[in-house]
Amino acid sequence: MIDVLKGGCQCGTVRFEVSEPATDLYHCHCSMCRKVHGTVFATYAVCPRSGMRFIQGEDNLSAFKSSPDVTRRFCKTCGCQIAIDVAYQPDDIWFMPGILDDADHPGADQTERHIFVADKLPWLHLDEVLPRTDQA
Ligand SMILES: [Zn+2]
Ligand SMILES: [Zn+2]
Repeated sequence: MIDVLKGGCQCGTVRFEVSEPATDLYHCHCSMCRKVHGTVFATYAVCPRSGMRFIQGEDNLSAFKSSPDVTRRFCKTCGCQIAIDVAYQPDDIWFMPGILDDADHPGADQTERHIFVADKLPWLHLDEVLPRTDQA
């Protein structure tokens, strides 16, 4: 069990809380994540669906299917990426640990890794500590 973590989008409309520790932490370098987030990679925490709930602004979410299995939910007002539903992981939800209110770790130190590193931008230097895989 972890302390309940709270987070939300940049404009403050959408708020959520996470009450179960993450089981996985991914830094994804695939081109879809880079495009959707506008960043050089995107970081996700995966937790049981029962462990994340919206406490405000769920009706202000929009959804975008970036591939047949991946639906991304984001704030309609500020565009902040909030969560991902992955069709083949119906019992889990992926959320963005970068938008938690404070620095509390969402868990899953042991599973933190870089994924889809084959798609990594060539000029980006990664740490030498975390495991890396070319796909998920
Ligand atoms: Zn917002
Ligand atoms: Zn990705």
